[in-house]
Amino acid sequence: MQFEFSADFAKKMDEKDPLRSFRDEFHIPKKNGEEVVYFTGNSLGLQPKKAREIVNQELDDWAALGVDGHFEARNPWYAYHELFTEKTARLVGGLPHEVVMMNGLTTNLHLMMASFYRPESKRFKILCEKKAFPSDQYAIESQVKFHGYDPKDAIIEIEPDPETQLVDHNSIYEILEQQGDEIALVLIGGMNYYTGQLFNMETITRAARKAGVKVGFDLAHAAGNVKLDLHEWGVDFACWCTYKYLNSGPGSISGVFVHERHADKPDLPRLAGWWGHDKSERFQMKPGFKPIYGAEGWQLSNAPVLAMAPHLASLDQFDRAGMASLIEKAQLLTGYLEFVLKSVSEKAVNLEIEILTPESPEERGCQLSVFTHGQGKELFDKLTEEGVVADWREPNVIRMAPVPMYNSFMDIYRFGEILQSAAANG
Ligand SMILES: *Cc1c(COP(=O)(O)O)cnc(C)c1O
Repeated sequence: MQFEFSADFAKKMDEKDPLRSFRDEFHIPKKNGEEVVYFTGNSLGLQPKKAREIVNQELDDWAALGVDGHFEARNPWYAYHELFTEKTARLVGGLPHEVVMMNGLTTNLHLMMASFYRPESKRFKILCEKKAFPSDQYAIESQVKFHGYDPKDAIIEIEPDPETQLVDHNSIYEILEQQGDEIALVLIGGMNYYTGQLFNMETITRAARKAGVKVGFDLAHAAGNVKLDLHEWGVDFACWCTYKYLNSGPGSISGVFVHERHADKPDLPRLAGWWGHDKSERFQMKPGFKPIYGAEGWQLSNAPVLAMAPHLASLDQFDRAGMASLIEKAQLLTGYLEFVLKSVSEKAVNLEIEILTPESPEERGCQLSVFTHGQGKELFDKLTEEGVVADWREPNVIRMAPVPMYNSFMDIYRFGEILQSAAANG
């Protein structure tokens, strides 16, 4: 694709975009009366207009029916989580009985580790990323301590290259080959939240399983962003949140994938609750936990319907758009952002932009993380002042995610113009 940094080009790209109408299905925040350039869908996705209606439906049914809503609401609450199953399975490449929506992401990481981090005499270590998202670091450390180990002995961290900040996959395979018999679990992010590097989950899974190691992925930055084929890849488990790329609202419900090979293991240790109990007996309130076949067997509590409702609106959009089309558009949008960043950097006198995120579309989603050499926080503040919503990380990294669901090529052109004038005045 031959990109041009011009309003005309951006406009033409938007006209040709088969997904362009989805933008109208979202509330776009405004600043000084104008729609902002929203590049933080990797942190909190925008609100689908349908979300309010779908939450209101549950509020109305609650008002009208009280407790009877459990069985008589238009979407009966006792089975509310089942409304997500088919579409979630398509989104992450799982079978319907391999997925369930429940809890928050970090909670689910703990629940999965309770089942799949089973340290034994020699095999007791967890292999994870060096600069994992803090919550994942705390979860992993506390699990290791919970089992009586010292994190210094039981956690192996994958070191990124100090120059590029990226992880060389070979370093993962080497560790698995050399120390595989000491590792109980590989748990890494499908995509690094800081650099935007996408890991090859398929080959990592293959290498881990060959070494007899369980493998789980935190898909916070991957779900709704990149192609996932969790069942085929053979991943043991995965968890994700739905408020980032999946546009389901602050703190919204998390998703879990558990591979079919663990579907029917009632003896697998787990932290259980009544919602994971065999459905036919759930309301008999009998002692003795009998897990539901598949991922639903890990549920603890009845569904938080009001928190889950916006995700129905969002999943419907993902299902209509289809991940394949979204990814096709994402590669164009992100490629265009990369082109615009380079164009501005070339012309600017006192700004040099260095992109940390890998160049290959195979190794990234829609996020680009960039160093702004020569300028710091004041540049970012100027962008913010002019209506660009991006994310700042010390010392001088800006993270931007033009998402295919609602961002336009015009957003990127406008951003380029704002960046150019902010850099010139810096
Ligand atoms: C966003 C994010 C989280 C957040 O965890 P919550 O439990 O949803 O608060 C955890 N891990 C990663 C990798 C993330 O990107």
